[in-house]
Amino acid sequence: MKRIGIITSGGDAPGMNACIRSIAKYCLNNKIDPVGYFDGFDGIIDGRSIDLCFSDVDNIVQKGGTILGTARCEEFKTKEGRSKAISTLKGNNIDALICIGGDGTFTGANILSSEMDIPVIGVPGTIDNDIAGTDYTIGYDTALNTVIEAVDKIRDTAGSHHRIFFVEVMGRNAGFIALNSAIASGAETVLIPEELTDIDAIVLDLKEQSKGRRSSIVIVAEGDDGGGAKEIMDKVSPLMQRYSLRCSILGHIQRGGSPSAFDRILAGRMGAFAVEQLQNGVYNVMVGIKGGRLITCSIEDGIRLNSSPDLSKLELLRNLRTLG
Ligand code: ATP
Repeated sequence: MKRIGIITSGGDAPGMNACIRSIAKYCLNNKIDPVGYFDGFDGIIDGRSIDLCFSDVDNIVQKGGTILGTARCEEFKTKEGRSKAISTLKGNNIDALICIGGDGTFTGANILSSEMDIPVIGVPGTIDNDIAGTDYTIGYDTALNTVIEAVDKIRDTAGSHHRIFFVEVMGRNAGFIALNSAIASGAETVLIPEELTDIDAIVLDLKEQSKGRRSSIVIVAEGDDGGGAKEIMDKVSPLMQRYSLRCSILGHIQRGGSPSAFDRILAGRMGAFAVEQLQNGVYNVMVGIKGGRLITCSIEDGIRLNSSPDLSKLELLRNLRTLG
């Protein structure tokens, strides 16, 4: 193992830099050259890369985003695109590739590994936490904390004006951020893709809860079957004409910011662990953390099994409401 390629791909997530740093430093301290490719699979196809040295990755552990850049690369979904990528990797004498990203990145990495003899390893980096092969993905904890901070502020104004706020958070397919931020921010209701949304039941519940409090917060995952926060509010509005309703879409602030301690430590551990696996001849797997311990599992298994939050927390939320 002489040269290891690294990409960050898909949506950016806080802690990706801490992971790049960990991989690069672990490599350099073990006489391996770390090569960073810019903008995910795009950079491999185009041959845009940097031979990383210590100074490139110093002072980035605290930075959000990714110094390598990321992209959603359509060309990589074609056989021709992947052939170009393989030529680049071979031309650059890359012995293994580490892909930091979400389930899409892992799907691409898995297909690539089946088409070439260069080992591949996936490190879960996405704010969505929707990869079954790990309890936590890099970036999720920071995003959750960002949401909580924002909802705390919204609650201040909601309380002052006696309003019901529908707050939209990220989560196209999974309700991890929505459900856990709802519990942590003391929200009254949460709508997630894993549970069918019943508008009449929401209205009834909000009316009941409004008897005992000045304001309410409804957290809505962007991928909820009933629609986003604006759509839900528009459906609820005619049934609650005497109430003051507002919606707030948190959007891309959820991706940014300095990573939390949890994400920095997770990224540091996973990055070094990935290189260690390659040194030990373990590859074409993803790394993950289960019950606090670093593990590997096949990429296929890691993304095939459905990943959903602990739905018993819905019952917890219902029992934490203020009624009557
Ligand atoms: P996030 O969870 O933050 O959205 P992600 O890794 O799931 O991250 P995607 O945009 O779904 O983000 O995937 C990242 C990239 O992986 C895509 O732009 C594409 O280059 C590659 N990819 C995704 N699906 C495939 C596929 N079926 N075949 C080949 N490559 C793929």
